[in-house]
Amino acid sequence: MTSSATALVQTGPREQHFEEMPFPALPPGAALLRVEANGICGSDVESFFGDDRVVPSDQKYPRINGHEIVGVIEDMGPKTKHREGLNIGDRVAVNPVIPCGRCEPCTDGRMHMCAAGRFAVPVYGFIPTSVSPGLWGGYSTHVYLDPDTVLYPFPKDFDPLTATLWNPLGGAIQWSVMTPGHKVGQSVVVLGSGQRGLAIVAAQRAVGSGLIIATGLSRDQHKLDLALEFGANAVVNVEEQDPVEAVMELTGGQGVDLVIDTVPKITSTTLQGLQMVKTGGTFVNIGVKELTVDGFPIGRITSKNIRVIGAANSSIAAYRTAADMLISGQVRLDKMRTHVFGFDRFEEALDTLEAKIPGTKSVNVVVTPTFTS
Ligand SMILES: [Zn+2]
Ligand SMILES: [Zn+2]
Repeated sequence: MTSSATALVQTGPREQHFEEMPFPALPPGAALLRVEANGICGSDVESFFGDDRVVPSDQKYPRINGHEIVGVIEDMGPKTKHREGLNIGDRVAVNPVIPCGRCEPCTDGRMHMCAAGRFAVPVYGFIPTSVSPGLWGGYSTHVYLDPDTVLYPFPKDFDPLTATLWNPLGGAIQWSVMTPGHKVGQSVVVLGSGQRGLAIVAAQRAVGSGLIIATGLSRDQHKLDLALEFGANAVVNVEEQDPVEAVMELTGGQGVDLVIDTVPKITSTTLQGLQMVKTGGTFVNIGVKELTVDGFPIGRITSKNIRVIGAANSSIAAYRTAADMLISGQVRLDKMRTHVFGFDRFEEALDTLEAKIPGTKSVNVVVTPTFTS
């Protein structure tokens, strides 16, 4: 039986190597997870290039990246069994945020906003290996499950690759349902059709929204096709059609109740989205944009009584709902998974996610802790 983990350790921007790390001692409430699969997202790309801004630069490295983790409990500390009914051999998804349980957001149920506790950033994949016991990231054969880590059990026969989709779906539930508040029959525009945008389309269909419109680029045609399959009533190719005009046409000039902007790095979608919201409607930004917006329509927001909301991370309840929806089959996102790579092909996985490889039609990319090359 092995007594050490093989981990992909990042030591600086674009610098990483494999390292053997001993299994940690397990205090009461802790456990050791054998990683099966890890979903990747835009944050992983930023982290790899050292562009992630959340962690102070002197506390980033070395670290093991990976924060969308699914695996099987391999070992448990004393008394861990009594926690959430866990047993060795159980399959679980790991909440990326390790909440302190004591700060103001934690004590009023917003644990995903916790910024206190023992870590500079209390999120798997963002804690350096210098913080004991070091196994804090999903690009590893094993991960340490802290006594404060929140887990979501999945059935033993549930495909672990599909279980990783609990992460984008949890975001979709939080950002498009829980944060803005949901109204049955509401009309929705989802700007951007990456894995988060598509998960939002599926979530909105599942909770009983009315008209759902998704947008994308010409190179996103395979994603727009999936949006229609996941429940969108209409899709708009923004390179062929002005998206504001298209939405107004589809809504009889009214606009929609809810716009979710998932597009990173550009602000044109912010301005377009605010034009699409009807009187009394809501605009939610989840796209990562370290930018300011020229032409921000304050007058329109006021006169139309528009709510503008920022949303990051997902609550424990949103993730639990997402896990339940996947397990029950109420929401099926399997078709979104286009690629699986071993962690020795991590850079190829990132390039695939970013569609940097010509001809690549990617949506959801999963990394497994295996050597595949
Ligand atoms: Zn992520
Ligand atoms: Zn807290």
